[in-house]
Amino acid sequence: MPKITIDEAVCKGCGLCANACPLHIIALDGGRLNAKGYHPARLAHPEKCVGCSSCATMCPDTAITVEK
Ligand code: SF4
Ligand code: SF4
Repeated sequence: MPKITIDEAVCKGCGLCANACPLHIIALDGGRLNAKGYHPARLAHPEKCVGCSSCATMCPDTAITVEK
């Protein structure tokens, strides 16, 4: 199963990864703030990820790592 790691300290909560995911399994965590004051992206359903890397490619801050 692919493994996605999101570096929350780097994330600026732009939501581009959530829009890029074809399975819509990434969302901004509205209940938490990171040290920069942004709602960080969170993988809501890691078991559904197909490892396409669209989220990582889209992230302007390279906060997402995909391991296949
Ligand atoms: S690798 Fe693909 S399926 Fe997995 S979270 Fe990223 S965009 Fe979604
Ligand atoms: S695209 Fe990158 S910076 Fe933007 S919300 Fe996703 S992980 Fe955070």
